[in-house]
Amino acid sequence: MSKIIATRAIKGAHKIVDRAKNELAKAIEAKGKDFQVSFPDTHYSLPFAYAMLGIKASRIGDLIEIIDYAQSLLPPVPSENVWLPYLGPTLDAGMATLFSEEVIEVLKYALGPSPSYDYWVGFTNDAILREQGIKLVDGRMPGFAAIVGSTPTNEEAVRIIRELQEKRILVFMSASANGKCIAEQLAEENVQMGWDTFLVPHGKDISATVYALNIAVRAAIMFGGITPKGIKEAKDILIYNKNRVNAFVLALGEVDDEKHANAAGAINFGFPAIADTDIDQILPTGICKYEHVVSPVERDKMVQKAIEVRGLKITTEKIDIPVPHGPAFEGERVRKEQTGAEIGAKFSKAFEYLRMKKLEGVEDGKITVIGPELDEFKDGSAVPFALVIDVAGRKMQPDFESVLERRIHTFLSEAMGVMHTGQRNMIWVRISKEARKAGFKFRHFGVIMHSKLLHDFPSIVDKVSVTVYTKEEDVERLLPEALKAFDERDERLSGLTDESVDVFYSCKLCQSYAPNHVCIISPQRLGLCGAYSWLDGKAAFEINPTGGNEPVSKGTCLSEEKGEWQGINDYLYVKSNKALSRFSLYSIIDAPTTSCGCFECIIALIPEANGVMIVNRGFSEMTPCGMKFTTLAGSVGGGEQVPGFLGVGKLYITSKKFISAEGGFKRIVWMTKELKDALSDRMKKRAEEMGEPDFVDKIADETIAITTEELLSFLEKVKHPALAMPAMM
Ligand code: SF4
Ligand code: ZN
Repeated sequence: MSKIIATRAIKGAHKIVDRAKNELAKAIEAKGKDFQVSFPDTHYSLPFAYAMLGIKASRIGDLIEIIDYAQSLLPPVPSENVWLPYLGPTLDAGMATLFSEEVIEVLKYALGPSPSYDYWVGFTNDAILREQGIKLVDGRMPGFAAIVGSTPTNEEAVRIIRELQEKRILVFMSASANGKCIAEQLAEENVQMGWDTFLVPHGKDISATVYALNIAVRAAIMFGGITPKGIKEAKDILIYNKNRVNAFVLALGEVDDEKHANAAGAINFGFPAIADTDIDQILPTGICKYEHVVSPVERDKMVQKAIEVRGLKITTEKIDIPVPHGPAFEGERVRKEQTGAEIGAKFSKAFEYLRMKKLEGVEDGKITVIGPELDEFKDGSAVPFALVIDVAGRKMQPDFESVLERRIHTFLSEAMGVMHTGQRNMIWVRISKEARKAGFKFRHFGVIMHSKLLHDFPSIVDKVSVTVYTKEEDVERLLPEALKAFDERDERLSGLTDESVDVFYSCKLCQSYAPNHVCIISPQRLGLCGAYSWLDGKAAFEINPTGGNEPVSKGTCLSEEKGEWQGINDYLYVKSNKALSRFSLYSIIDAPTTSCGCFECIIALIPEANGVMIVNRGFSEMTPCGMKFTTLAGSVGGGEQVPGFLGVGKLYITSKKFISAEGGFKRIVWMTKELKDALSDRMKKRAEEMGEPDFVDKIADETIAITTEELLSFLEKVKHPALAMPAMM
């Protein structure tokens, strides 16, 4: 163990603990000990302190205990010539640093100015973390890089960031070197930042580095199911991170004492640090999988080195197009003034259509563009567009056409500079000027689809050919065939009922963080994350018979009304590790299905109204059951059976099997406006089927009622049918 690193980290920790003490004293003087402190929209208080100590602070006075604890961890600063044989004191200094930084940051929220402004994100709330953090645990993001400091040139900053994005590695940014944070360099270069693009600028202050770790601890709590209580759980949380969250620190530019202290904090999590300057290395393994601190590493080799040191395995297939491609670019938007060409929406006639053909009818890899190419259109042109994809495979089935077709959105959006929304004949695509300048053409849509379909669906897709049409007369001529196919598919899908099939599909993808959770997916009830329908389950099983989805025979029906089958129960018992023995697919009260944490919506019973309310992820206001989405999510998730609450996929709401055991659709007394709007057509149709065409107007939303009293008076006024139904419990 190097004495210099230890000395500098411990010195840095002293500085940061002192700063936190000072700021806390000032806060107490200004506001008093009872003044409320909190980060926005979390129920983990100060997550790092909560995770490590099991305490939830809510007043300024509560922070004293945290700082006292940090102080107690602080080792004395060793004199320069003392040899420290162990990492111990350095690691403690790192923890003291993180406790103190979290206090410094939460005081900014309490007293202002808030650390979230412009592009700076500051604290990430639980809702966003639940949605995004899952990707860290299930492998969609192989890991995260916490970058502190900046590079000498903006060009180098962008290059490092693009490399991380292409490898799907989430990036957190904080602190500065030479007066700059890398996030500022990206802003100067117009790089889009935010959770959508995997680039999260936490803050310029060194103390903002703690946000990366308070996300790491919440990942262990949310997805690892660890409830903080004390030392044992604190250790579990650190080990969870070491084993599951592949993170590392990239220190760019001068590494001062405070940065040393933060690196020491990260080592507790098993996160190593890689620096481009010459600092002392800690090479032997111990806490981290391999080395702890590696330096100096040339900047253009840092990402590669970090991946090696953290022991990350990254498999990305290289797609032969002139712009980077990967999930980090999926959420990126192309603004009007950046648009090189526009397709669909109100701008031009457009559609995309994937069809199955016989093996001999498809020439694999053939990509044809009929009509002018992208570079023949003027900047900002609206382009008529048809993307026709022919797929053949020995195990391909017509049912899989829609499964594959829905992937067009993701695959195309993942190209940097391509924004894609919608599907079928309701698409809107923008291609940026920059992508055009880089040489991106319409034929590259074909290259992407060919490469991704073969790569992601190897067992059902053997051959792919793609044709792009960019002349209006062709688009018009071909559209009727596509529309006819869409209609036939919808027809077939709506004819699929739970009664008409013998097997349902399971999904166990979320067991990695909710070990007892199983989704049972039936034709009339999709997976709660909204991403898997019965057909998807079927296709996924064909693609990978040993993957997360498998067929489950229904067996004897135990209750048609509640949706309970012996075969499903037997399967559940085994796959939930004997934690659960019964599921009723259509009941919110008797043995309801469990939730992992990815639900699109939560249904909650409102006993006073004799009905249920539904709130979608992303709605942050109060709801009539007295809880916000985040609080509800905390009590429903984790694979527990919680009668009265249900996490569901959005489309289940308009299914005929929607809590049919309790009377179904008519039980809905309240739902968010956003959800009502999103499902508007389907809801109307469902109401008509029930013979109550004006039912949808009887459902309250947040513009009508927030409290139970307001809700009840509205329901009485509109004579909501739930009031006259049998008591729910
Ligand atoms: Fe997770 Fe269920 Fe979605 Fe599968 S269907 S990914 S288990 S939420
Ligand atoms: Zn899940």
